[in-house]
Amino acid sequence: LFAGETDFVKGVVAMDGMPPDDRLEVCFAGRSNVGKSTLINALTGRKALARASNTPGRTQEINFFTCGESHYLVDLPGYGYANAPVKTVEKWQRLLKAYLSGRASLRRAFVLIDTRHGVKAVDEEIMSLLDRSAVTFQVVMTKADKVKESEREAILTQVRGAIAKHPAAYPEMILTSSEKGLGIDVLRAVIATLV
Ligand code: GDP
Repeated sequence: LFAGETDFVKGVVAMDGMPPDDRLEVCFAGRSNVGKSTLINALTGRKALARASNTPGRTQEINFFTCGESHYLVDLPGYGYANAPVKTVEKWQRLLKAYLSGRASLRRAFVLIDTRHGVKAVDEEIMSLLDRSAVTFQVVMTKADKVKESEREAILTQVRGAIAKHPAAYPEMILTSSEKGLGIDVLRAVIATLV
């Protein structure tokens, strides 16, 4: 699945710009700066693939990447920007709701959580939206290398507690570090079973 070409397909700002949902896909959500672009690049083995989605102006778009012959990886816009204008947040929420409720080909959402910070209020909001949209989601912990092993367990316990409240949550989370290559193969394998 990840051996072939991965390419940026398009950035979408409205539902009518979505590529046809004729292939299975998974999507990635997370607070801005959680390490989403870096993770997508690590997954696909492409150094600058998801950088396009991080450039100013692209951050409010849903970005589609091909994965293998007939699948998409979907990069949702980062949320939780400090000082984001209300109008921007509202526009983002409308697009996200439309995507999550209207995408038959979406198999799973991965919600990225920074291992240093655990689940924040904005992450809870996304998880609740996923519940309401009946989209199964799985938590991916990012930047695990930034937290000492002895300190990880307390965070992971907090995250497990948060996940337990969400009916759409897949109970197992995946611990990753794009920097160290930790957990990337596990995430690839999970995606391969889904699409
Ligand atoms: P995004 O806004 O979620 O797309 O976040 P980025 O992928 O741009 O990453 C934000 C910052 O975190 C960058 O400076 C990355 O180099 C850094 N980062 C991302 N993943 C890791 C990781 O696994 N370990 C460490 N130490 N830093 C990371």
